[in-house]
Amino acid sequence: MSLTQENFIQLTEHVFYIKMQTNIGVIKIPRGTHTDVYIIDSGNDDVIAQKILEILKNNIPDAKLQAIINTHSHADHCGGNPYIFQQTGCEIWTSKGEASLMEYPEIETALIWGGTAIHDIHSKFLLAKPSHATKIIEEGKDEILKIDEKNQLAIKPISLPGHYMNQIGLLIVDTDGKKSFFMGDAISGRNVIKRYWIQYLLDETKSKESLHKLAQIESDFYVPSHGDLVEDIEGLSELNIIALLETEKLILDILRTPKTTEEILKEVADRNGIKLGISQFVLIGSTLRSYLTGLYEEEKIGWSIEDNILRWHRTELK
Ligand SMILES: [Zn+2]
Repeated sequence: MSLTQENFIQLTEHVFYIKMQTNIGVIKIPRGTHTDVYIIDSGNDDVIAQKILEILKNNIPDAKLQAIINTHSHADHCGGNPYIFQQTGCEIWTSKGEASLMEYPEIETALIWGGTAIHDIHSKFLLAKPSHATKIIEEGKDEILKIDEKNQLAIKPISLPGHYMNQIGLLIVDTDGKKSFFMGDAISGRNVIKRYWIQYLLDETKSKESLHKLAQIESDFYVPSHGDLVEDIEGLSELNIIALLETEKLILDILRTPKTTEEILKEVADRNGIKLGISQFVLIGSTLRSYLTGLYEEEKIGWSIEDNILRWHRTELK
């Protein structure tokens, strides 16, 4: 992938983003002798991290990177932290829960596997290098960056759990009041969701709540980590909610007769035309178990163990 200056897109006076596989938010504050820079997320690994630093250097030659702000601890969001930290000595900010996971990234693979994971899924997409958060940020405590006597820019963390434990979005309010909302993986861009109808999630109920929550937040620009930004959030959040509800409906349809989790997974994949490799088997499998929990807590499905096999059934059919 060659990155040109076109990938560096201005949103408001001090806020930009780098359009790449994981979109990277950029805040730049001129300080006279240099420019303070804050970035949102850091990509997958050293190679992407290097590209991010290169793009920053090309567009802001006197950049002094102050902090990486991570939306969550998935490898494609914090995998570049160690390299960028090593090169710049910047701070690393994130929420408390995500900070713990960034410190111990093997929890991520253990979590999706449901035990110590086989080495085959220890890829750069699922296992980041560890990094240490230097500052914990949370909703209700805004970070204020003073620009001069009169002007300031606010970084407002917004709690958006569901896709992951303690994920945060960042609402950036520029000096003129214009807002950009970096939403992490709480929502996917239109082109992304159309291609991958079933998006990874850890908690289905909270994912739905976060989608409703972010649709209520007023902003001029809404930037999902994957896909294109939108200026009006309603349609995109609706599309994401429909994808969740359709997957619920699909699982209920598959459960016209009782089935094991793996039998449901096979049918979910077959009906979506997905050929599972090991990473997808694990990711979609983990996501499916989270859907099953959501449906169970809503009392739409139940489980029973017979002959030492756990099968799920639809409650109204039992
Ligand atoms: Zn993620």
